[in-house]
Amino acid sequence: MASSTVSIVPAATPNITIHTSKLFDPKQKAFLKDMTLTVSPLTGLITSVSRRSDATAVTTAHTTDLRGKTVLPGLVDAHTHLFLHAYSDTPAMIQMRDESLVERVIRATNHCRAALLAGYTTYRDLGTEGAGDADVHLRDAVNRGLIPGPRIFCATEALGSSGGYETRVESRSNEDVSLGRISDPCDGVVGVKAAVRRRLGAGADVVKFYADYRKRALRFPAPLGSTGGSRGCDIHFPPEGEERSPSLLLFDQDEMNAIVREAKVGRAPVAAHAMTAEGVIMAAKAGVTTVEHGLGMGERSTEVLQQLKDSGTIFVPTLAVMELFVKDLKSMLAEVKAAYNLGVKLACGGDTGAFAHGDNVRELELMLQADVPLEEVLVAATLHGWETCGGEWAGRKFGWLEVGCAADLIALEGDLEKEVGALRKVGFVMKDGRVWKQDGVAVGMV
Ligand SMILES: [Zn+2]
Repeated sequence: MASSTVSIVPAATPNITIHTSKLFDPKQKAFLKDMTLTVSPLTGLITSVSRRSDATAVTTAHTTDLRGKTVLPGLVDAHTHLFLHAYSDTPAMIQMRDESLVERVIRATNHCRAALLAGYTTYRDLGTEGAGDADVHLRDAVNRGLIPGPRIFCATEALGSSGGYETRVESRSNEDVSLGRISDPCDGVVGVKAAVRRRLGAGADVVKFYADYRKRALRFPAPLGSTGGSRGCDIHFPPEGEERSPSLLLFDQDEMNAIVREAKVGRAPVAAHAMTAEGVIMAAKAGVTTVEHGLGMGERSTEVLQQLKDSGTIFVPTLAVMELFVKDLKSMLAEVKAAYNLGVKLACGGDTGAFAHGDNVRELELMLQADVPLEEVLVAATLHGWETCGGEWAGRKFGWLEVGCAADLIALEGDLEKEVGALRKVGFVMKDGRVWKQDGVAVGMV
């Protein structure tokens, strides 16, 4: 990657004209024909958007011709972990324990590049998982033009209650064991309020907390090779199924309310991990911006979805990570469809990092598999992504293409309406008016 910064654009740099024949507009939830945009490389913003009759399409040295392709706003992944790589390579616990901070930062740098080239111009990164506040500095490195990557909204460390989301030591006799932390533990209304302040003070853009989390993972360890399995030595007569390591609440309602209240003071959106019906309902009632995961609710599914709808909570179902761990993905796809039918606002976030960065569109593919209409999936992956980052609080408009929005746009080879596979054929990527991929090849990266 270039050693100089990207922000130094000569003042005489002319605007770029972009011709399209098929452009998706998330506000209208429609593909528009024959649109032409102009972009200022100086500000990185869109300066005009207009309908064009083909005869008047002038091509100059400053024209980018994206006709014949499907042009979308740059995609937003609303749930990522830049400091994690695919669990199929290395289980998360081993990554957190054995990989040095330097290795993790280098990997994260590569992940940034892979994401951008896959058409992802924004990442909402929900926790470094043991890498402290390193995401803040990764974000700033991208913003300063030191490395290519998506615009990052980061959480630093997630909030969990004491013993709630930590490297587990239950069932150990050695109390002195020293392990790096993977969350910012906090308890009580005063405690969680202080934790939100700590996170925002460290530079977080978004506050993430665990409404609930799996417990008893060491008391009844899953067999090696199974989900969460970390030990070869099984025990006799463990509880069955989910009861072996159940998700249980980490915070009470007052604590969740206090987290959201304090984050709002700091104009930061809030993301809540929730895998139980109580967790989702309490987080939604507290007023979180998004609920993450929230699937597998069984007979409480309708009640849970209704609460999300009533609270205006954005739902990030993270189907892509669920696919890795659950046997019954079908019922989860049905839950997502039911959410859509009910009018729950959806956003696309894969929990990317659990699987490879660059493979982010898996979430869109699964939402399509759930039978959510293409236009709605694209809205979930663009405009709603901006909303998960705080909307107006994000400090920049992205996720749709109007005058004044960031010039984040991508072109897919072929016609997405006819062939979903086009999602994986990203031929062109522009972020903030700078081209990073042209004709399917990375440009401007060394
Ligand atoms: Zn996650």
